[in-house]
Amino acid sequence: MPDESLADDPLEFRSHAPGYWPEAAMVHWNDPKWQLKNRINTLADLEQHLDLTDEERAGVLLAGSKLAMSITPHFFNLIDRDDPDCPIRRQVIPRLEEGWTAPEELSDPCGEDSHMPVPGLVHRYPDRVLFLVTDRCASYCRYCTRSRVVSGVGEQQLEIQWEAAFRYLEKTPQVRDVLLSGGDPLLLSDSKLEKILTRLRAIPHIQFIRIGSRIPIFLPQRITPELCEMLKRFHPLFISIHSNHPKELTTEVRDALGRLADAGVPLGNQSVLLRGVNDSAEVQRALVHKLLMCRARPYYLYQCDLITGSSHLRTSVGEGLEIIENLRGHTTGYAIPQFVIDGPGGGGKIPLNPDYVLARDDDKTVLRNYEGETFDYPEPSEAPAEALAELKEQSTCCS
Ligand SMILES: *Cc1c(COP(=O)(O)O)cnc(C)c1O
Ligand code: SF4
Repeated sequence: MPDESLADDPLEFRSHAPGYWPEAAMVHWNDPKWQLKNRINTLADLEQHLDLTDEERAGVLLAGSKLAMSITPHFFNLIDRDDPDCPIRRQVIPRLEEGWTAPEELSDPCGEDSHMPVPGLVHRYPDRVLFLVTDRCASYCRYCTRSRVVSGVGEQQLEIQWEAAFRYLEKTPQVRDVLLSGGDPLLLSDSKLEKILTRLRAIPHIQFIRIGSRIPIFLPQRITPELCEMLKRFHPLFISIHSNHPKELTTEVRDALGRLADAGVPLGNQSVLLRGVNDSAEVQRALVHKLLMCRARPYYLYQCDLITGSSHLRTSVGEGLEIIENLRGHTTGYAIPQFVIDGPGGGGKIPLNPDYVLARDDDKTVLRNYEGETFDYPEPSEAPAEALAELKEQSTCCS
């Protein structure tokens, strides 16, 4: 059965502007400041454009004390007004269910707060750190794993101690990889970002810098030629974007990603597996194929973290495995993300794969391929001494 959330041609790149903003001039539309200023932040803003369900109206009212609502006009335009189950809508418009905390849920599901040597710096793996550089995003995802600090209305405030963080990195030579995240680092001004990157690049043992950002999806207008010129001075610099549904990859997004790729920034994509958003093989296949067309390689597919109020958006683990089963072998290897669970409480990312190894002993491994055929792969044989001696003799007698 075709997935209802997909357009007739799910691989088509489209612009949705001006959509709900017919009066906006294109010069304004293309200005990231205009986009930020005109975000949908309140119930009244929303109701100007959409007929909300009762669950959504209640959700919006509850959100004010948990994770703020904010949606850029660019992203809001992807919402299908006639479909209450629109996969874009589910990601950014709060619902009543968000107010309920399931027994398995946590406010800090990945145990980040207990791995911070300096506030804002998560050092879980020996050789790399996650550096939270802001608590603000262009729009807010209802399943955000950091909703305890992100948006500024939740239970905690993000405290960044810039000087202490840089000094920790300077005196910790095992850190060779710094991942800037938040919130969304690309919401910072070019000059602020440049200062952070300059300071990091001055540390000799930091080989690799990454930025995790959903700005290319929420606010592609922010990916200006000036920003790209600045970023390319800090290579090797990678960017991990975050998109979940093929509809998010519009012509504007494709162009923004193209500008980053032209600046030599390798692009990876992180998706979160979400119920009613992208929990079908068909949607995932369209997403990963469109990502490759945008020069972004699918990196991780996350099982949704156990963040408070997320049970209506989470799927079973089996559904994620089934999606991978439907991709591997059936499409380009580059298109296939690694499915992972961030171990609850602080286990780090743990890979999950369908079981391709059926049995393994000292002699052989029994495997199955994507079509279900089985194959034996034997362990290497030891060459017998006599055979080697004979070969040696042959090689000396004739030289
Ligand atoms: C995800 C993450 C990283 C980066 O992990 P990779 O597998 O290298 O992408 C680093 N630190 C923390 C705390 C993370 O959550
Ligand atoms: S963009 Fe990232 S940090 Fe911001 S709300 Fe979404 S998931 Fe959270």
